[in-house]
Amino acid sequence: NRQITIAELPTGTLGPEHFTLGETAKPEPKKGEVLLRVILMSIDAANRSWMKGATYRAAVQAGDPMPTYAICEVIDANGTHLSNGDIVAAEATWSEYVTAKARKVQPMPKVATLSHLMSVYGIAGKTAFHGLMSIGNPMAGETVLVSAAAGSVGGYVGQIAKALGCRVVGIAGGPDKCKWVVDELGFDACVDYREAGLSRALAVACPDGADIYFDNVGGKVLESSLNVMNEKGRVICCGAISQYDTENPTGPRNLPGVIVVKRLKMEGFIVMDFAHNDAKCVRAMQHWVGTGQIKVIEDIVDGLENAPKALIGLLNGDNKGKRLVRVAAD
Ligand code: NDP
Repeated sequence: NRQITIAELPTGTLGPEHFTLGETAKPEPKKGEVLLRVILMSIDAANRSWMKGATYRAAVQAGDPMPTYAICEVIDANGTHLSNGDIVAAEATWSEYVTAKARKVQPMPKVATLSHLMSVYGIAGKTAFHGLMSIGNPMAGETVLVSAAAGSVGGYVGQIAKALGCRVVGIAGGPDKCKWVVDELGFDACVDYREAGLSRALAVACPDGADIYFDNVGGKVLESSLNVMNEKGRVICCGAISQYDTENPTGPRNLPGVIVVKRLKMEGFIVMDFAHNDAKCVRAMQHWVGTGQIKVIEDIVDGLENAPKALIGLLNGDNKGKRLVRVAAD
């Protein structure tokens, strides 16, 4: 059973030296547990934030295997209500095999493409849908601004908002990504945050201001985005990737003044908060995929051994769409 553990916690930027690939015995399921074969692992910006301390889950420590959300096959149901061969979503680790409590895993429908259970119908699509719909309340004709627009969550936020009749402006790193966001994902405009003069560029891209800002990055991008918000605008705080891989976090300098003057609402959320609406989300996403209004965007890296590189790369922006690691064939 190959497994990747944290060699040491990073004090600066994450690198390959912070991980160890090792071999452990195949785990034995205890009573009430099942043995799972890991097929696909979700690579998330959050993996890095868990290395910094407790968040909505406990911090990871040196010596721990990296936790991950994964699509797995039950290979020993061990007398539980599950059956061998079932496909489930589970809290796993960066490993080939894991055990899990049978009542904690989530049976998945049989679908032609398992990766869709983590991208468009999984964590990426659900985070985009729930945050935008439940906190943003978008209306046709409004302008929606979203950062990390070529990433897994941001790409769906923009496509959903477009399907709802909004004007959609992305923020992404580099001219190629910005062009891809417009040409492939159908955004109305996309601004390169790495260029100087971000606030000015956003004002040009949002001539009527922004009614909703879906923030995946925090820091200076959040600061500039707040400057183009319209009065009574909604700011959806989904994550702060610009702050995860640095020892020198920088918050927006215009808080709270801009919130007061513009009467903005700023609200954070965790995707699980809206689990009661998951079925509605999946139905809506299936509809939009069917009509061609939403393109499924995935970035799959092969091999458990490449998981550290996949996470380091995600933090440096080398992904387009939902990044996954394929550990085994379906
Ligand atoms: P993405 O697929 O969006 O990839 C991350 C992207 O972030 C990179 O491709 C990169 O794109 C961009 N990025 C990296 N560093 C910076 C920076 N310093 N400033 C601006 N952009 C940067 O990853 P995830 O889907 O894993 O995460 C997206 C966000 O959503 C994260 O903040 C994450 O924590 C959050 N999240 C929140 C959830 C919730 O329940 N609240 C659930 C899931 C994710 P570029 O090339 O454009 O820089």
